[in-house]
Amino acid sequence: MTDVGESPPVRRLSEWDAAELRPLAGEYGTPLYVLDLERVRQNYRRLEAAFPDADVLYAVKANALGDVLSTLHEAGAGLECASAGEVQRALAAGAPGSEIHYTAVNPPAGDLDWIVDAWADHPDLTVTAGSTDTIDRLADRGYDGRLCLRVNPGIGAGHHEKVETGAAAKFGVPAERAVDVLVDAADRGFDVVGIHAHVGSGVSSKQRDAHREFVARMGDLARDVAGAVGGLKFVDIGGGFGVPYREDETPLDLESVADATRDALGELDATVTIEPGRYVVADAGVLLTTVNTVKDARETTVAGVDAGLTTLLRPAMYDAYHPIRNLTADVSERGSSRERTPQTVAGPICESGDVFCTARELPRSERGDLLAIGNAGAYGYEMATQYNTRPRPASVVLDDGDVRPARRRETIADVLRPEREALPSASADRKTDHDRATDTDNEYDR
Ligand SMILES: *Cc1c(COP(=O)(O)O)cnc(C)c1O
Repeated sequence: MTDVGESPPVRRLSEWDAAELRPLAGEYGTPLYVLDLERVRQNYRRLEAAFPDADVLYAVKANALGDVLSTLHEAGAGLECASAGEVQRALAAGAPGSEIHYTAVNPPAGDLDWIVDAWADHPDLTVTAGSTDTIDRLADRGYDGRLCLRVNPGIGAGHHEKVETGAAAKFGVPAERAVDVLVDAADRGFDVVGIHAHVGSGVSSKQRDAHREFVARMGDLARDVAGAVGGLKFVDIGGGFGVPYREDETPLDLESVADATRDALGELDATVTIEPGRYVVADAGVLLTTVNTVKDARETTVAGVDAGLTTLLRPAMYDAYHPIRNLTADVSERGSSRERTPQTVAGPICESGDVFCTARELPRSERGDLLAIGNAGAYGYEMATQYNTRPRPASVVLDDGDVRPARRRETIADVLRPEREALPSASADRKTDHDRATDTDNEYDR
């Protein structure tokens, strides 16, 4: 076990032990996600050390594997959940209601039904609402528990427009309406506990000023709200702590982000809450994939691998850079002398966007080589799909020298099952507020 805060701020793909990874591909097949739980703990401890007075809620959507959630719960993290399904996972991982925040973004009726049911057994859970309609819909179901309001501060930060959520009207109540909305909610009997904003992913050193401005606005708003409703338990400034995806990028200076945060917030009689997702898991995971075809194209060599955008969507969706390493060339004698050539690593999906890199200098690939794609622990498996009728990959976890299968590979039968089992009427899947059935046999099983 590593000491608090003593672990390196980033674990590069080059630092993974090829001799440890290669047998995993042999045993479990590829594509395969590998997640190192000790690195997850280290990342969490560094955050805790930098923000000693803050509550840390791990954003489950970054990687919802049960082993990750129980590891983080045991390490002391709370869990921020984006759906009823994630709340189910959080409870299954052993987290008590008091450590669970459910952030409702335009929540489907079934989610709210399930959450309000769960609240009966876990009265300390917190619901973060992002619109007055959501508050009304909670009230309709008899919920008057812990309520946090997600506000839209009107500032975005992030590495790509698709994740600049603060600027996106979809998320949160405009900050200038927050006091009125929360005074009204308190009058209606809700237990108003906090305000929340998440301005997007990718807070980096370059965006220090934007971060400061955002946090300062949250501090001001928290003081206004606390004055109006008679106190506030926490101010949640969301996640978005960036990780260096490129080999030459410097890691985030957590201490200075934490200092800037404390400074900008000002005097506050409330706990600061942060919701890191990516930062906790990104560099704890790699994706292993096998080269199946190699061909010389005009300006690049194309290495065709068995992982694709259905396995790891980020390059296709966000133009994201992920480091790639040839583990075969790294460990074989023959490989160490391989020349480096511009290579495009492409998946098996019928989409031109299905490439992990374009003309990147890598050791010349050969059929059967094992490649590792780095920083795949966050938003990797979670965004995997079955497009092209492609089963989702398997996952294994490493834990202090132990290797454990964590999730089996899907089969084509898994992909086909819902269609084989289709009922004549699909109405049970389409519940609305107006037409809530009493059936319990649905996807929200408890
Ligand atoms: C996605 C999300 C996070 C985590 O974002 P990261 O970039 O992974 O740190 C935190 N809070 C909310 C509400 C989110 O939606």
